[in-house]
Amino acid sequence: MKYEVYKVLDYSRHFIGDLIELHDCSHHGYFDKYDSLCVNCEQRFECQWLNQDRNFLPDRNMPASEVMKTLEFAIHYVDAWLSAQEHDLVVCRCEGCSWLRCAECLFEQLRESRLRG
Ligand SMILES: [Zn+2]
Repeated sequence: MKYEVYKVLDYSRHFIGDLIELHDCSHHGYFDKYDSLCVNCEQRFECQWLNQDRNFLPDRNMPASEVMKTLEFAIHYVDAWLSAQEHDLVVCRCEGCSWLRCAECLFEQLRESRLRG
């Protein structure tokens, strides 16, 4: 299941990365928590997420709780974006909506497997 999760996260990384505006970013998308420009940036949440993902992705030993948090953020972000673009998330066949349904299903599976211990 872990491989699937990383595959799913990889797509969301590209999806969110493509949406982020980096024209005015003096850090070129590398989040610096000590820089007030970053801390007050309106894209700080997605930027922070991308940066943690960038660091964590090669780490196949990332704790399950972290994997779930990372996946949850991606789901909420993509969901919000697609909803704002008026996609019908239940039936739309675009790549983003298909990803979302797959990611939500995977998230549920992860949660259930954690509940079972
Ligand atoms: Zn769609």
